[in-house]
Amino acid sequence: MRAPSSPALLATEVREAARERGALLIMADFDGTLAPIANTPSEARLAPPARKVLARLATAPGVGLAVISGRDLPDIKTRMDLPDIIHAGCHGLVIEGPGMGFTHLQAAECRQILKGLATDLIEKLSGLRGVEVEPKEFGVAVHYRRAYPSDLAEVFFQVEEAREAHAPHLTTRPGKKVLELVPNVPWNKGECALWIRDRWARTQSLDPAVVYLGDDETDESAFQALRGKALTVRVGSGHRGSRAARWVTDVSAVHRFLAALAPPEGAEGEGREAPRATTGEPPRGPAVESA
Ligand SMILES: [Mg+2]
Repeated sequence: MRAPSSPALLATEVREAARERGALLIMADFDGTLAPIANTPSEARLAPPARKVLARLATAPGVGLAVISGRDLPDIKTRMDLPDIIHAGCHGLVIEGPGMGFTHLQAAECRQILKGLATDLIEKLSGLRGVEVEPKEFGVAVHYRRAYPSDLAEVFFQVEEAREAHAPHLTTRPGKKVLELVPNVPWNKGECALWIRDRWARTQSLDPAVVYLGDDETDESAFQALRGKALTVRVGSGHRGSRAARWVTDVSAVHRFLAALAPPEGAEGEGREAPRATTGEPPRGPAVESA
């Protein structure tokens, strides 16, 4: 396995690419990438120093910042607490940012089914200690990080039965100690990342260098889609078999990378270290699109 990338060297490489292009778009997952994985999803927090670094990046001229998460959109917005950045929720099924908006219509049609399923699964699995059923806008997540190993077969059986009952509308998506029922639509973090890149480039009239950071199976679709179009970075020691071009060891390496990339403190908006926009157009008003 190749050695992990040094956050400082990675930042130098990205800064060079951004300088050449005159712009930089950073896209990152949240859990396990910007914030450490917590015991329960509700406990995951972005560390205040990391938020400050992200705020400096987000306000630097010619720099765009997008967070693409499996969480619901309002949830990820609250956790980031950074206005004016691009947020994508539910693995990219819904996107909101300055001058852009997107909802996957076919996925939206599954919302009623998912609501009913969440109620069913809560009833069926609530007796199992450590199992948490999380109703989401575009999915139902079953978290089993704290479950007894002897209960896992029952968890998988119930989720599979729910999926079968609603085939072909739903599919299952495995993550880190979570199994999620989601709309069976041809849209993932990869499609979402390409959509954001194209939309951001168009609204800003810029052709940015792109970085994508992620730690999970669901980020592999973005590593694949962005091949040759972005510097892709897998977070965590499980890099083997990843489609990402590089890897860094953990969330703190991600923070060091972002800190090395950000303009120095007190230089917000001056763009001393940040690439400058060569041309610029004011962002347009929000538009809602369907896939
Ligand atoms: Mg993650």
